[in-house]
Amino acid sequence: MYKLSEIMERAEQLAPNQPQFHQAVEDVFHSVVPYINEQEKYQNHALLEQLLVPDRIIEFRVTWQDSEDNMQVNRGWRVQHNNALGAYKGGLRFHPSVDLDTFKFLAFEQTFKNALTGLPMGGGKGGSDFDPKGKSDADILRFCQAFMLKLSNYIGPKQDVPAGDIGVGSREIGYLFGAYKQISGVFNGVLTGKAPGSGGSLIRKEATGYGTVYFLEAMLAHQDKELKGLTCAVSGAGNVALYTVEKLLQKEAKVITVSDSDGTLLCQSGFTSEHLEAIKTNKQVERGRLKDLADSSKDFEFKADTKPWQFNCDVAIPSATQNELNEEDAKALHENKVVYVVEAANMPLTSAATAYMVENKVVVAPSKAVNAGGVAVSGLERTQNALMQSWSSDKVDKELKKIMQDIHQACIEFGEEEEGINYIKGANLAGFIKVADAMLFQGIS
Ligand code: NDP
Repeated sequence: MYKLSEIMERAEQLAPNQPQFHQAVEDVFHSVVPYINEQEKYQNHALLEQLLVPDRIIEFRVTWQDSEDNMQVNRGWRVQHNNALGAYKGGLRFHPSVDLDTFKFLAFEQTFKNALTGLPMGGGKGGSDFDPKGKSDADILRFCQAFMLKLSNYIGPKQDVPAGDIGVGSREIGYLFGAYKQISGVFNGVLTGKAPGSGGSLIRKEATGYGTVYFLEAMLAHQDKELKGLTCAVSGAGNVALYTVEKLLQKEAKVITVSDSDGTLLCQSGFTSEHLEAIKTNKQVERGRLKDLADSSKDFEFKADTKPWQFNCDVAIPSATQNELNEEDAKALHENKVVYVVEAANMPLTSAATAYMVENKVVVAPSKAVNAGGVAVSGLERTQNALMQSWSSDKVDKELKKIMQDIHQACIEFGEEEEGINYIKGANLAGFIKVADAMLFQGIS
């Protein structure tokens, strides 16, 4: 019999000073421990102990010369958490705040998220403390080449297939792919998120955001409700946030906020598609700041150092980063009548915020289910690369929608309770069972 407190003590012993990793582990094992204690087949195989330790951690120095001829040193990591279901798969993050703890939490989450997609993918995550913000294209290129020189030995289409994440968008994936090709001499599906002309899939850049909205629609449909007319507060203004907003607008929801690390851009009347185009130009083309947009239109207000959780909304969609929504924010959202919190970023709620929401009957849809659309279309990109095909956007979008609906169904199957659907439990159990069954089948994973 497992006890959550004992397995968490073990996590602390094995990985001291890794609070984000512990938070992710506790979130999953909180659902899994009561279940596993009633299922004989999962006992006596040390499954939870195995999942506490990644298969492999690659940690390296990235030395590169910037365009002013200064030598720069950054750190790089790749955490290959579990490949019971397939080659490791998960993004690369470039952000100055990251450390091994960040990647261990993200890789752990990724294993269960990838399981939920139903595609044959294990879980991994990696990146660097390099900060791309404000760097020239030339410096980004130099860094990406140096980073790939260190990583290339450990990845491959059948081994480990990275993609983008915070700070790693289409430009960085392009430079990383170019570097890999030069080092290895082969053109293959080693990375996903490539441009369509270089073996990328249509709809990949939109997939996480669109998938988030497809999941939300499935939640609403389950309660005979629709998205049209609901007020949504979104945080972030990156890949996930902007394509979430795009799909919300297509579905005639009212979106009142996006944000970046300087504050929140508020549009009380709801953003239009013209507004969204202006935000995309600011972020994706000019690599600018949201506060500059507020000066360009009287429709916007910029609230410096303010999160989007201070405004009345039906749906909150945190889409920026981990632990961005704390207990105080949860209270504010509750006072502002929020009904659904849909986690588009990875682990955006602190444990206290989640507990507060659950206590107050706010429905929380967890990231491993909600944002699985990104990695799902990455999985479809791998299939297209292996078959040497390019599918139409319509086909990819249909597949994405189906995958998100299937994930929602799995959450219902494993999360149904008297008071309604417990999406956190449903996603954790549905993901865990797939991984655990594969581990058992393979003996020692
Ligand atoms: P991007 O780098 O494209 O965008 C991140 C956005 O979040 C930026 O607007 C950034 O603002 C903002 N942000 C980052 N940190 C903070 C912070 N501490 N406070 C406020 N705003 C912040 O990243 P993505 O959109 O790709 O990723 C967002 C989240 O979604 C992450 O949790 C990621 O792991 C997750 N995710 C991404 C997937 C993908 O396909 N890209 C797939 C699944 C999950 P600023 O520019 O000021 O830093």
